Amino acid sequence: MAEVVIGQRSFSQKDLGRLAELPAEELVAEVLRLFGKRAAIGTSLQLSGSVLIDMAHKSGNPFRVFTIDTLRFHQETYSLIDTLEERYGISIERYYPDPLRLEKMIRQHGEYLFFDSKEKQEYCCHIRKVEPHNKVLETLDAWITGLRQDQSQHREKIPPVQTISFRGRTLLKASPLAKWNEERLREYIRRFEVPYNPLFDRGYHSIGCIICSTPIREGEHPRAGRWRWFNAVDDKKECGIHISLPRNETL
Ligand code: SF4
Repeated sequence: MAEVVIGQRSFSQKDLGRLAELPAEELVAEVLRLFGKRAAIGTSLQLSGSVLIDMAHKSGNPFRVFTIDTLRFHQETYSLIDTLEERYGISIERYYPDPLRLEKMIRQHGEYLFFDSKEKQEYCCHIRKVEPHNKVLETLDAWITGLRQDQSQHREKIPPVQTISFRGRTLLKASPLAKWNEERLREYIRRFEVPYNPLFDRGYHSIGCIICSTPIREGEHPRAGRWRWFNAVDDKKECGIHISLPRNETL
């Protein structure tokens, strides 16, 4: 079967299958060992991000972590970045939206365009998240994510290891916690006293930008707090980093 080239290395489907079978801790360690500085954990400072950072630290490998700072994080999220940096002796790379693109968007549509329509929410996410995220991917051969299958219908088939195409290259996308649930993450965090976002103790189950992420009520879906004004019309609840969304270029 054809080999797939990722960075300087070739992988058979069997190699990728073996990686996918590894327990989360070992998968994190192996991706860091194989790709070094061309691998990084991408996090929006959810519970899974804290756990992945702890696992990477325990692996003994040097590791990179990045976040896409949309300039709209909760103060608790900014504080967590500082805490994680101090606890693990790391510097979390921050990537920001392009100031000119941001200014143009706000001038044309206003600061709160995401209330207007799904299309404008996706446009805002594109400018604030997807574009800076693409800048990071330019520096990577392996991207480690905190995606989990239980997060939504659209994520229920997320594999622990997959390859993705990005601007003519193949990247490894590893989601070591794909089969974990929130309870297991909380158990890990308690056991190893891992710093985490306190918003998770205040009813939040998914955290992104302020306003666009809210706490959920009992019985609601964990992602119901994201863009909750669209709950009745759309259950996709994605910003475009993990799935490709159609873009209206006239916006
Ligand atoms: S989550 Fe909201 S504020 Fe943040 S980028 Fe998306 S639409 Fe914009």
